[in-house]
Amino acid sequence: MNGAAQTEHPLELESLRLNALYRTELLDTEPEPEFNELVEIAAAICGARIGAISLIDERRQWMKATFGTDIDETPRSIAFCAHTIQQDDVFDIPNALNDKRFAENPLVTGDFHLRFYAGFPISSPDGFHVGSLCVIDQEPRVLTETQKHALRTLARQVNARIELRMQRKQLERALGQAEQAQTMLELFDRRFKAFMDAAPFLSFIKDSEGKLVFYNRYFAEHFNIGSDDWLGVRGLKNADPESVALFYANDQAVLASGEPQSFIERGRESDGTMHYWRSYKFPCLDADGSTLIGVISMDVTEDLQKSEDLARSHEALREANRRLSSLAATDPLTGLANRRVLDARINEEFNRARDEGRQLAVLMLDVDHFKACNDTHGHEYGDEVLRQIAHCLSTTVRSHDLAARYGGEEFCVLLPDCDEEQALQMCSRISHCLDQQKWAHGCITVSIGAAALEPATPNPQRLVVLADEALYAAKRAGRNRAVGYRAFYDEMVARLQQQVPN
Ligand code: GH3
Ligand code: MG
Ligand code: MG
Repeated sequence: MNGAAQTEHPLELESLRLNALYRTELLDTEPEPEFNELVEIAAAICGARIGAISLIDERRQWMKATFGTDIDETPRSIAFCAHTIQQDDVFDIPNALNDKRFAENPLVTGDFHLRFYAGFPISSPDGFHVGSLCVIDQEPRVLTETQKHALRTLARQVNARIELRMQRKQLERALGQAEQAQTMLELFDRRFKAFMDAAPFLSFIKDSEGKLVFYNRYFAEHFNIGSDDWLGVRGLKNADPESVALFYANDQAVLASGEPQSFIERGRESDGTMHYWRSYKFPCLDADGSTLIGVISMDVTEDLQKSEDLARSHEALREANRRLSSLAATDPLTGLANRRVLDARINEEFNRARDEGRQLAVLMLDVDHFKACNDTHGHEYGDEVLRQIAHCLSTTVRSHDLAARYGGEEFCVLLPDCDEEQALQMCSRISHCLDQQKWAHGCITVSIGAAALEPATPNPQRLVVLADEALYAAKRAGRNRAVGYRAFYDEMVARLQQQVPN
């Protein structure tokens, strides 16, 4: 019946056959000379008045080509060709009137007056019998073997032309698709270029050797080149070798990882300026499967400069603040802590000593006969004396003590964790230091008053007042000495008690 699939169920086979027919795309198409001429030759060779290429679809036979008749279709039920496609060779009916399968067929009994029929199956390229090449006459006729052979040969010609026609259609479709794809490609390319050309950053693509295969308008304008001057060129032509090596190393890192990466890159340009770029690099595939490197680079030179400037001005501000707070805390002449710092610290230490039951002592120092020193040797020398005394104080006291300029030629020293006796030992060390100084105009001495915290001391100011009283006691006692308040007070009380008569 047909060679395509002998084992299929008849219904399934018919459905496959119909699909094969539809795939030929012949049904309901315009007449084509290449088929008409084969029909005409078949009729001529077989000596028949009528010829046709009949295609059998689900319900009808439809004539792709006819000769000697203008019938273009009939119901399948009366089609002789429907029988032809059920077998594999020439199907011939010499006289239909003598064949009980066809004697009552309307094509035989009606005006068409069919008597002779011979057909050979036409096959789709995949072997399904989709129709037949047939010759018909209104007179009974018998085909010779030669005529049958010719019919077979011509039917195979029809098959070949059907296959060619299908291939042509396929080709046309593929061409159409290719053209459409080309149009789409050009559209995408135009869109891509328009998009990239509007971008305010460098955008370029390099091959794996670093040769440029694309760059956008910003790139061309930035490097002052034509739109294709650098295509096929390796690296940024005028960049310094160090920068080119860096670009190359980054490219290789992206190729090796196969992942997008971002870098800060720099390049010295032909005018000598250094540009900094935030580059986003990513691998992408070329049409031939080779790897390309896509790059988007934003010029961050100004941003970096701005943030560097900002960092510099922040540092300058911090330095100014440091100087300001040191100025606010320091006595400019001697470099010692000033009165403001002393007042704050003395409060702090007083509270701490009270809370934690610790000792605290204060020294008040006053330069002896300083007015005379000034008057005799000048005010500048007086300043120098004050600086030397300050040096002695700061090098003699312990790290957690505080030496401050109290005002004029008076100094105050805060001694945490010291009682009066220890404070007086500190006075000795200070005096010793002063003794060791090289004074330009004779030895400078100081008088010192010391007072230590006692349970009855009501506030820090009182501690200073007591140290001051001891200082004046030292002055009265002849200067160049240290007096402890408690010792002085106890001695005074004892003396007074001696004076009081019993
Ligand atoms: P005493 O032994 O009783 O302390 O006598 P004195 O001359 O030191 O006392 P007085 O308080 O009369 O003199 C202090 C002098 O210190 C007066 C003032 O001109 C001087 N003086 C205060 N501050 C400074 C300063 O910053 N530089 C200089 N060179 N002299 C100063
Ligand atoms: Mg004084
Ligand atoms: Mg003085």
